[in-house]
Amino acid sequence: MPPVREWETFPFDGELRPRELLPPEAAERARNGEDEADCWRCQQGESAAIWSDERWVVTPLTVPSGLPVVVLLFPREHVDIDGVSDELATALGPVLVRVERAVWSVGEIGRVHVCRWGDGSFHLHWWFLARPARLPQLIGSFAAIWDDVLPPTPEPIWRENLAAVARALAGDGGTAHV
Ligand SMILES: [Zn+2]
Repeated sequence: MPPVREWETFPFDGELRPRELLPPEAAERARNGEDEADCWRCQQGESAAIWSDERWVVTPLTVPSGLPVVVLLFPREHVDIDGVSDELATALGPVLVRVERAVWSVGEIGRVHVCRWGDGSFHLHWWFLARPARLPQLIGSFAAIWDDVLPPTPEPIWRENLAAVARALAGDGGTAHV
């Protein structure tokens, strides 16, 4: 094991060893929904959204997870970041700041991690992970792993937190759906 196991933020204890790194595959794997007709996000529309406006949709995860709030921001347009128009790119900065502030407004949040991986699904999506305040073990990139390690946030609190995010977003325009 590398020294990462000694980090205060490492979520695991006990005997662990890294997996063997397999050789490269012949080609990159296709991502989910590369074809718009098969895109889960495009088929969902606003049905799973907590907030939306003419250009953007914000959704929660389908069930509570370990962190108090995790939401995803999508453009309505079926596009990945390398295909966004200049107009959409210009709108992206303000909406990232806006969603980050809305998640922060839930309260008792130490930091909001804004992440874009994009290895699973094609349709552009940004993660907003609310790291609880005063829990230094949860700082940094392992917060995304702690989200799967910690017991789920109780559903009533999860719903209140999502409603707070939706209200904060709707305060600057668009429509809250919770
Ligand atoms: Zn799509």
